Amino acid sequence: MVAVPKTIAIVGANLAGGRAAQALRANGYEGGIRLIGAEAHPPYERPMLSKEVLLRHCEPERSFLMSEAGWEELGVDLHLGSPVTSLRAADAELELASGVRLSADKVLLATGGRVRKLEVPGAHLDGVAYLRTIEDSLRIREQLRPGAGVVVIGGGFIGAEVAASARLAGCEVTLLENGPTPLARILGIEIGAALTRVHREEGVTVLTETSVASIEGSSKVTHVITTTGQRIDAALVVVGIGIVPAVELAEQAGLAVDNGVVVDEYCRTSNPAIFAAGDVTNHPNQVLGERVRLEQWQNAQNQGAAAARAMIGKQEPFREVPWFWSDQYDLSVQMAGLPGGCDNIVYRGDLDSRSFSAFFLRDGVLRAAVAVNRPRDVKRTTPHIAAGAKVDAAQLRDESSDLRAVAA
Ligand SMILES: Cc1cc2nc3c(=O)[nH]c(=O)nc-3n(C[C@H](O)[C@H](O)[C@H](O)COP(=O)(O)OP(=O)(O)OC[C@H]3O[C@@H](n4cnc5c(N)ncnc54)[C@H](O)[C@@H]3O)c2cc1C
Repeated sequence: MVAVPKTIAIVGANLAGGRAAQALRANGYEGGIRLIGAEAHPPYERPMLSKEVLLRHCEPERSFLMSEAGWEELGVDLHLGSPVTSLRAADAELELASGVRLSADKVLLATGGRVRKLEVPGAHLDGVAYLRTIEDSLRIREQLRPGAGVVVIGGGFIGAEVAASARLAGCEVTLLENGPTPLARILGIEIGAALTRVHREEGVTVLTETSVASIEGSSKVTHVITTTGQRIDAALVVVGIGIVPAVELAEQAGLAVDNGVVVDEYCRTSNPAIFAAGDVTNHPNQVLGERVRLEQWQNAQNQGAAAARAMIGKQEPFREVPWFWSDQYDLSVQMAGLPGGCDNIVYRGDLDSRSFSAFFLRDGVLRAAVAVNRPRDVKRTTPHIAAGAKVDAAQLRDESSDLRAVAA
C-alpha cells in the first residue's frame, strides 16, 4: 500500500508536468501540488510552435493547457519563471533560482530537454536561432519574410517543419542535412527521400551529406559556409540538431541517469520519493520490449498522467505504442511504434505520390507503421503493434486488403 503524499512537487511546468498535475486532481488527489517551471508561461503544447504559430495561423496562447486562473481553480500552486536549482533527495527539499525553498513528500521530474547547441565559428551571431520555446518561435516568425534567406541546419522533424513553414511564408530556404537524406534517422532512407522530394518540389534547396562549417556576419548573420564549401545568403539560421535531456537535478539527487532519467514502468526513479515523466525519461516500453527515450507529445502527456497516478498509489504499468505526428506543407505524417532495428519494410502505395504507408517488421512482427496522408493506415495497424502480432506482408502491401485483418 503506497502512502498518499501530503504534498507533491512537480519540477518542469510544461506538457508532462502539466498533465501530471491535472491527472492528480482528476484522480481525486486533494493534497498540495506545487508546479514549478523555469519558463514564464503556464504549461503549453510545443507542436504548434513549428507549425501554426510560425505560419501565423494562431498566437502562442492557443497552446496553453489552461489559463493561470484555471490552474488556480484546480488548486495548483504555480511557480513560474524560476528554475529549481537544487534538489535534496534526502528530504525532498527544493530550492529555486529566486531563492524560494519548497518541500514536498514526493517529487516528479518533468524537466524535458534543452536544444543541443551548434559549435562552429559564428554560432553566437544574432540571427542564429533554435526552436523549443514560445519566445524562440516568435523570434523566428518575426524573420520569416518573403524573399528572406533562411538556412535550416539539421534535417530532423523540427528542421523539416521549420523549412516547410519558412517556405510557405515565402522565404528562400536551404536545408542542410549531414546524412544521406533528411528524416532518414527515424523513418529510413526511402521515406526520407520521398519527403525530401516534396521539400524540393515546394522550392526548398536540400543539401545532403552537408553540414555547416561556419557562420559569417559582423554582428548579425549574413552567410552560412557549408562543409562542402558553399556560401549561402542567410538572414536567419535555424538550428535543429536535437535536444539533450535536462538531467542536472536528477544527477544532483544521485538518481540513475543514462540518456535521460532512468525510470521503471511505474515512472519510479532509483529514489522511491522521486518520479519522472516525459522527454527526460529513459523508460521501458512494454510493447516494444526495449528501453526508449521519446521526444513525443503523446508520450509526454500520457506518461505524465501515469506518473501522477503511480505517485498516489493508483499504479499500473505505463504501456503504450509510441505515436508521433508531423505536418509539413499538405503532408500529414504519422508514426506508430518505432522503426529502428527492423529487418523488412513493406510499402503500400506509391512513394512518389503524397499518399503512402510503410510497415516495419522484425522477424515478421509489426513494430512500426508510418503513413503520409493516410492516418487510417496507422490507426488500423496500431493494434497489431500493441499485440506484437506477426503480419502478412503481402496483405500489408495489397491496397485492397483490410489492414485490420493482416495478422498472420
Ligand atoms: C517546435 C516543436 C514541435 C514539436 N512538434 C511535435 C509534433 O508535431 N508531434 C509530437 O509528437 N511531438 C512534437 N514535439 C515534441 C513535444 O513537444 C515534446 O515531446 C513535449 O514538449 C515534451 O514535454 P515535456 O513536458 O516532457 O518536456 P518539455 O516540453 O521540454 O518541458 C519541460 C519543462 O521543464 C522546464 N524545466 C527544465 N528544467 C527545470 C528546472 N530545473 N526547474 C524548473 N523547470 C525546469 C523547462 O523549462 C520546460 O518548460 C515538438 C517539440 C517542439 C520543440
